[in-house]
Amino acid sequence: MSRFFSPKYRELEAYTPGEQPRERKFIKLNTNESPFPPAPAVRERVAEAAGGLNLYSDPECTALRAALAERLGLSPENLILSNGSDEALNFAFMAFCDERTPAVFPDITYGFYPVFARINRVPFRTVPLRKDWTVEISDYSACGGTVFLANPNAPTGIALEPAQIERILAENPDHPVIVDEAYVDFGGESALGLIGKYENLLVVQTFSKSRSLAGLRLGFAAGNPELIRDLKTMQYSTNPYNVDALAQAAGIACLAEDGYNLEHAAQISETREWTRRELLARGFAATDSRANFLFASHPAFPGSSLRDRLREKGILIRWFDQDRIRDWSRISIGTREDMETLVRTVDRLLEERA
Ligand code: PMP
Repeated sequence: MSRFFSPKYRELEAYTPGEQPRERKFIKLNTNESPFPPAPAVRERVAEAAGGLNLYSDPECTALRAALAERLGLSPENLILSNGSDEALNFAFMAFCDERTPAVFPDITYGFYPVFARINRVPFRTVPLRKDWTVEISDYSACGGTVFLANPNAPTGIALEPAQIERILAENPDHPVIVDEAYVDFGGESALGLIGKYENLLVVQTFSKSRSLAGLRLGFAAGNPELIRDLKTMQYSTNPYNVDALAQAAGIACLAEDGYNLEHAAQISETREWTRRELLARGFAATDSRANFLFASHPAFPGSSLRDRLREKGILIRWFDQDRIRDWSRISIGTREDMETLVRTVDRLLEERA
């Protein structure tokens, strides 16, 4: 830290993204990326759009917003595009939380939420998940703050039913409820259909996971037009050209190929179920994940040891140095071949121990 760094950020602990190794070739099961490349049409459109990069991008993402609205059965006024869904989430912390309105979220959830709260200097309250990592819905009744819920949750993968989301919306009519659906396409149920009914609902989704575009940085928020206008005020006050021209072109092409994306998402969900069964058969505990990752633990591999041993064998997974989950690991779902290698490697580790 330089001596010029503002004291207002002294307490800030930045988010630590998963490792992106550059030298050695690993099987990468640590950052919930898709193992499948984007559709060929996406690459073609990006190459075409590159010719127009002398101009600024459209800050309204007009064409992409229209395509997305049509795809989701919403109107363009219901949507704002963002630089990854992280940016839409940050806008929501900026716009909807303050000293009198804390952010409220589970103790075990996406690790960026406390960082967004701290950088925006807004208070937050964490609500413990139950012992089985499920959400106690009644904990959110009239909770007095802006609610952030990842559904399916990360890193547990456990999903809430739309009726449970609806209850939280109905019991907090004077506060926004932000439902972060980064992983919804792998077996969750979206709350997008509730947008017309609840003015306090904001749904956030991403092109990073089921749409194979993590490196592009494209996400969006959907909600009633007034909530969206508030987020746009944040956009135009920080970075009007937040979604670059290549991302807009790629997003349109990607939506036109959504069948390709959904097919891969279904394949990933199937591979997840196969991997889960194999791990359970080897003595693991694993949650009922509806995401493109598993959350698992094994008595022979306490703490970070599973991550460390797998890394030695060329496989990266994610471990979080956090109370309650120190004996658990998050394992992204790759191709079936990747997961077969994982299972074989686990067998070797168990043998080496014996
Ligand atoms: N929400 C959750 C729950 C996530 O795990 C992630 C991925 N790290 C994001 C949002 C953000 O993803 P992106 O910015 O790539 O859209």
